[in-house]
Amino acid sequence: MAEKTPLHPNPPPLVRVSGTHREMGRQIGEACRRQVQHGIENARALIADAYQQLELTWEGAQIQARKYIPFAQERYPQYVEEMIGVAEGANVPFDDLAIVNAMEAVAMDALHLTRCTSMAVNQERTADGHVLMAHNEDWVPEDEDDVFVIHATPKDEPPFLAMTYGGLLPNIGFNARGIAQMCDSVYPNDSRIGTPRIVVSRAVLAAKTPDEAIRHMLSAQRAAGYNHILVHESGELYSVEVSSRRFAILYGEDGYIVHTNHYLSSKMQEIERDPEDLVASRIRYFRALRLVKREDAHTIKSLQTIQRDHVNHSNSICNHSVDVANVLDREKTVNAMVIDLTAREMHIAWGNPCENPYHTYHLDA
Ligand SMILES: [Zn+2]
Repeated sequence: MAEKTPLHPNPPPLVRVSGTHREMGRQIGEACRRQVQHGIENARALIADAYQQLELTWEGAQIQARKYIPFAQERYPQYVEEMIGVAEGANVPFDDLAIVNAMEAVAMDALHLTRCTSMAVNQERTADGHVLMAHNEDWVPEDEDDVFVIHATPKDEPPFLAMTYGGLLPNIGFNARGIAQMCDSVYPNDSRIGTPRIVVSRAVLAAKTPDEAIRHMLSAQRAAGYNHILVHESGELYSVEVSSRRFAILYGEDGYIVHTNHYLSSKMQEIERDPEDLVASRIRYFRALRLVKREDAHTIKSLQTIQRDHVNHSNSICNHSVDVANVLDREKTVNAMVIDLTAREMHIAWGNPCENPYHTYHLDA
């Protein structure tokens, strides 16, 4: 597979932004104009390639995406402002950026991007007493070029460090109040028109306590839900499984927590769509769980070793599923990160972590 694994020896771009949400959005759009434009081109190509399955045109997708924006506007106007700023800075139509950020609603039900892997360990399970977490971000291969890291100092919210790609609002990272989040897609059957889950999860990056973070995840009139791994610097570890109307809160009572892309709680499994499509997620879950549990004293390196695991290749934790027949099922690990929440540091490999080095970013706050 090596010849098909793009190499990114360089660190992903770091974008430092500050100010109001509109200003931060503009700074992101200006600094990452190429990535934002490319992300929209990729979304256009994906929808075109999937016409047989989705019967959706780009114009149809714009109409769909527009239905979700008023809900985001009502609950989280500041993040709609951020999106408007990104569109202005990158010189793209807001309607196009809205599709990218509401892709779940527009096409995600047909997309089977099922292979993100998240895990966290607290001071009971680490060699140096730090709180650590790891996330493999698996997505369509074309978006790998558009990965970047945002160091944000919002005027009215805690500073944060987060990873994103293309024109997506950031949602995976941590803030200066010691709140960290990783998101894994899940597949409930009760999705509706409402606040896109990207916007809901963006709000979590502004939370000051675990309680506040979970309240955002369960925001009224949410369109759908993720599984959110929520970690606090105190060592609190949560896995919050969310759909549009239901949720379940799992707690890492033994000092670790693992999640992939299927629901673990029986209440949520009742509304899981096509669970037989999520077999690979179950295999990855058990594999990651075993690897996390067999180590008593985790380090950044031990978590990085798990991120490079190839059992059940190509649907492995280090994902290389680029050769599958259905265009909507193609995906790979586009980046892998370990967050040392205690040290306020992110170690990120751009592309598959089996082939690419990790780079370290620090939150200055
Ligand atoms: Zn690999």
